[in-house]
Amino acid sequence: MVFATNAYSHLIPELRRKQVPAWTYMIATEPLSDRHFAEIRWQERNGVEDARNLIHYYRITPDNRLSMGGGPVGLTYGDNLELDSSEHAWRHLEEHTRQLFPALQDVKITHRWGEPFSVTMDLTPALGYLGDSRAVYSLGCIGHGVSTTHQNAKTITDLLLERRTGNTACPFVNRKGIGWPPEPLRSAIAQGLRAYLRIEDWAYERRPRPIDSVV
Ligand SMILES: Cc1cc2nc3c(=O)[nH]c(=O)nc-3n(C[C@H](O)[C@H](O)[C@H](O)COP(=O)(O)OP(=O)(O)OC[C@H]3O[C@@H](n4cnc5c(N)ncnc54)[C@H](O)[C@@H]3O)c2cc1C
Repeated sequence: MVFATNAYSHLIPELRRKQVPAWTYMIATEPLSDRHFAEIRWQERNGVEDARNLIHYYRITPDNRLSMGGGPVGLTYGDNLELDSSEHAWRHLEEHTRQLFPALQDVKITHRWGEPFSVTMDLTPALGYLGDSRAVYSLGCIGHGVSTTHQNAKTITDLLLERRTGNTACPFVNRKGIGWPPEPLRSAIAQGLRAYLRIEDWAYERRPRPIDSVV
């Protein structure tokens, strides 16, 4: 049996302390015109991300929308899983998009989206056996979660087949980790962690950027 239940894992008693759900948000614009592409000079359609703790990432969709996500992270108390909407986060993403691409001031934002993801207390993925070797769990795929889940799938296969491989030797596997405490301490720690990451981003973004010095 595999528990790859991401942000819902705390609802499973054996996994309750291993992760908390946090919410992340995205927006997408209407399809961009040729004029917009010429102005922003984004010819190769590469995905882009910045170097913040609470990263921003940008990508052109197959139908030529600019999709953008990251920034503010939502937290809830206890087992509450209702934070799919965040006006504050969406506004932040819209403002950053227009700040980074002044040529897109007139472009409409047509999509807003939010969902939970799984966070361990040390912000590191965790997977391994749950009790004996018949059940495996995987959670905490934050940051570059999709690529981590692909790698974890290979590791889960090795664990289920009880093979010792390079995958199962990864430090994420069967690690002790630090468990999240019960509420209200859990929320206090999560809010503290988020505040630290936000303050560091804020302090870094206040520094003059090389481009400002040139101008
Ligand atoms: C808005 C947003 C933007 C993101 N952007 C990126 C990005 O740009 N790049 C990136 O790498 N990652 C991104 N991520 C993170 C990435 O999506 C996740 O890390 C990844 O999908 C986790 O995969 P998973 O297989 O662990 O869990 P999921 O894909 O969430 O799958 C978990 C499954 O378990 C099911 N489940 C839960 N509980 C139960 C239960 N009790 N019984 C049965 N089924 C259950 C759920 O329905 C779900 O289908 C983003 C996430 C969000 C929400």
